[in-house]
Amino acid sequence: MRIDGKNIETLLENGPASRDAVFDVIKKAREAKGLAIEEAAVLLRAGDHDAVSAILDAAGAVKERVFGKRVVLFAPLYLSNFCTNGCLYCGFRSANKTVARKALEIEEVVKEAAALVEMGFKRVLLVTGEDPRWGLDYIIACVRAVYEKTGMRIVHVNAPPMDVAGFRELKKAGVGVFQAFQETYHSETYGKMHPWGMKKEFAFRLGVMDRALEAGFEDVGIGPLLGLYDFKFEILSSIAHSLHLYERFGAHAHTISVPRLRPAEGGALGAPPYPVNDDEFKKAVAVLRLTVPSAGVVISTREPAGLRRELLHIGATQLSAASRTNPGGYTNGGGKEILEQFSTNDHRTLSEVMASIVEEGGLPSLCTSCYRSGRVGGNFTEKTVKGEMERFCHANAILTLKEYIADSSSPRFRHARAGNGVKGLFQGALNAALDEIKDEAMKKAVMEKLKELENGKRDVYF
Ligand code: SAM
Ligand code: SF4
Repeated sequence: MRIDGKNIETLLENGPASRDAVFDVIKKAREAKGLAIEEAAVLLRAGDHDAVSAILDAAGAVKERVFGKRVVLFAPLYLSNFCTNGCLYCGFRSANKTVARKALEIEEVVKEAAALVEMGFKRVLLVTGEDPRWGLDYIIACVRAVYEKTGMRIVHVNAPPMDVAGFRELKKAGVGVFQAFQETYHSETYGKMHPWGMKKEFAFRLGVMDRALEAGFEDVGIGPLLGLYDFKFEILSSIAHSLHLYERFGAHAHTISVPRLRPAEGGALGAPPYPVNDDEFKKAVAVLRLTVPSAGVVISTREPAGLRRELLHIGATQLSAASRTNPGGYTNGGGKEILEQFSTNDHRTLSEVMASIVEEGGLPSLCTSCYRSGRVGGNFTEKTVKGEMERFCHANAILTLKEYIADSSSPRFRHARAGNGVKGLFQGALNAALDEIKDEAMKKAVMEKLKELENGKRDVYF
């Protein structure tokens, strides 16, 4: 993997793109087949107010065409905040000596994941700093324990890059998506931001997904940390990265995350060198959606609730919720004394975030089906581009919402699901979603599965 920085800079030169050029690209983008990098550059260079609005509208339409109304929810689980790297922007950096560090024991990881299951989560993203004392073997032990001892259905991992042999081991443990962010695709900026530690090596970081896919991973998640360098350069480079994976392995990045820099206690960066305002951020999300329609675009709790609502109409497909960025944050009463990686910006519960999705006309989904039904990698990319995924997404969102509603009354889960008052809202959304299924055979099949859920069966999906 190589990023041709010069070519990317060239594509972004020459000031605002003409209205006509932008509208031509939007027309093509609406077909939901993706765009070339040159076309993405035209969208990023749009300056005209109407043209930018049209980009955002088109992104919402393409999202709905590819994935329907569903918005997937997940939570991060921080395993350890020990780190030997020096990333200037991160509170976990090794030079931050004044704060409490913690690596969860395996039993603590299980407790944290179980707490998330009680809240209603079915997918978790394990996140950790880079320290050989809590390296690959530890991560694998955590993954296995979460599967064996909690009801979590899929475990994704955001961890430091490893070699091919390491990825093989991680894959064997049953990890769904491996995620690692390039942070910045601008090599000079990368060098400045990562002054020491394993993460210093730009090329090793950039090749991470090639190694993961070589090792047998099928779904990988990429992303730039917005605020370190020009956002247009970073978005175009992320697209180039995904296109490279598609050309080499037949699968686009499964997810593209767009973390935007947040204040980090003990970080060494201060204000972001290239702040990204909300309008730019929206445009970035929309261009990703239009250029790589098969990719999940992930918006974390780094963003405030109001903006996350807006982004649902601009192409976002996955939201984290109720997140804590300190190890142990879900079980030790907030655990504020243990260092957070960065401060979050949306403190709503899972059920509140789900309610807001319904209020915006979407359908909250706790689905984990694709990873467990072989709709992964190139198969997932192909199905989404052909428009075959929407019916699975819609049906599975209905089923997981039903399960969430049913379990929210059970004594085991009730106390962890604040906001049970929204059950009526969820039931209304479920009924409306069922009505929207046009294919009678599919509708019948969904209704049968809903019956199974009513009769106490769980984990029912297509
Ligand atoms: N330590 C591993 C690594 O660096 O790849 C994995 C986990 S790291 C805890 C997860 C991600 O959080 C980083 O890749 C970075 O993009 C993001 N991050 C770090 N500091 C941040 C900050 N101050 N604001 C927002 N996101 C941040
Ligand atoms: Fe460590 Fe990751 Fe934070 Fe860098 S971003 S200091 S590698 S935890």
